[in-house]
Amino acid sequence: MSNYQPVIGLEIHSELKTQSKMFCDCLNQSGIKGPNVNICPICLGHPGTLPAINRTAVELVVKAGLALNCAIAKSAKFDRKNYFYPDLPKGYQISQYNLPLALGGWLDINGKKIRLTRIHLEEDAGKLIHPKGTSPKNARHSLVDFNRAGVPLMELVTEPDISSGEEAGKFCEELQLILRYLEISEANMEKGQMRCEVNISLRPAEEKKKLGTKVEIKNLNSFRAVRRAIEYEIKRQSDLLESVHKVVHETRGWDEDKQKTFSQRSKEQAQDYRYFPEPDLPPLGNLVEMSGELAKEIPELPLAKRERFVEEYKLPVNDIATLTANKGLADYFEQVVSELDTWLKIKSIKDKDKLVKLTANYLLTELQKLMLSRKTGINKCQISPENFAEFITMIERKEISSSAAQAVLKEMFDTGADPSHVVEEKQLTQVSGRDELSKIVKRVVGENQKSVNDYKAGKGNALQYLVGQTMKASQGKANPEVVREILMEMLR
Ligand SMILES: [Zn+2]
Repeated sequence: MSNYQPVIGLEIHSELKTQSKMFCDCLNQSGIKGPNVNICPICLGHPGTLPAINRTAVELVVKAGLALNCAIAKSAKFDRKNYFYPDLPKGYQISQYNLPLALGGWLDINGKKIRLTRIHLEEDAGKLIHPKGTSPKNARHSLVDFNRAGVPLMELVTEPDISSGEEAGKFCEELQLILRYLEISEANMEKGQMRCEVNISLRPAEEKKKLGTKVEIKNLNSFRAVRRAIEYEIKRQSDLLESVHKVVHETRGWDEDKQKTFSQRSKEQAQDYRYFPEPDLPPLGNLVEMSGELAKEIPELPLAKRERFVEEYKLPVNDIATLTANKGLADYFEQVVSELDTWLKIKSIKDKDKLVKLTANYLLTELQKLMLSRKTGINKCQISPENFAEFITMIERKEISSSAAQAVLKEMFDTGADPSHVVEEKQLTQVSGRDELSKIVKRVVGENQKSVNDYKAGKGNALQYLVGQTMKASQGKANPEVVREILMEMLR
């Protein structure tokens, strides 16, 4: 093990899901086609225009603060952060300096509390577009798109409590999930709706207090990039400390193709943003009252949901993680489970736990496959929880075979029809009658003499093949267990 201990902090920006921008009425539309569609004199920073605060954006950040165990400020204000860049039309960004909306807080990652420093609200900048086909050497122009300028942005800063790439990746994933549960942000990293910057230094393992030289890593566009860039940087910095005993204080980028960080600019001179209070906006008051109201709207959060699911449904941990990774899916699962009670009574089935497992399996495999192939989500699923519950009991009661179940589910998915109708209409009822099945088995045995001989010679696989052929001959309707029994008797 290395002699150095990584000390890692994160700065995470998330685009807020509001109707309009932070300080004007322009629409806030992520991924809009065409440049400079949602713009106006305010977000273009024309002289003489006045910004007005988007109250929803303030509420969303307060919500995030509450969900992340922060202290909500009694009052907060906006400040101007002055710097020049072509994507920043005003020449300053409206942000929050010394009075942010939320302070402190923590997020539990695998039982470890990662502390937060603060969460504040600011506006996003525009986007520079460097036309393709021109090398940096002979590119003569760049384009600027202000659709994103003035979009509300939440910035979360952590304490340097993180100690590995894996932990940082988990932190980002859990934060994304919380923001989605709260409907604060889509927080899709690939789409730039959530952006992560990493501060990382190494310190000698024996010196708990001394900090090493900090390096900042930017443009990490996926959870994987966060993990890989940190692992790479830990190795790079420890090699430097071993050889030349020095790390340069700088900002580095992440090269996805080479899977390496590279130097972008030195940080020898700290930039002075000349922060000062935004004179055109009033301070934010009444935050205590606001947070009291918003606290009532915080739903059950992912960690609590996972723990409750373990307790209540006794499903494998991985299944629970997948179910709860999508709040809509988790809600749907629970609706189906509650509908199961009715059907259990009607069909006098005793073992509810087994049906709950079966429900989770079908949601996570067959239904997911259908949603993926139709490019749709659980919120658009036409199957009512009641019908899904009935469908599950039909499988349990062997009224339909597992291959017929796939066909039934597909039909339900496409039409919203109830399963008993589908089964009736498509004549998919499972055939378990021995007389009827024996006839089919006899025919299959007659047509597959080689497999019969193989089986008699001790090849177990041959039996499975014959079961498969019988299923096919029955158009998927035969009960495979009964088929297997008949075959074994017949070939004894
Ligand atoms: Zn505007």
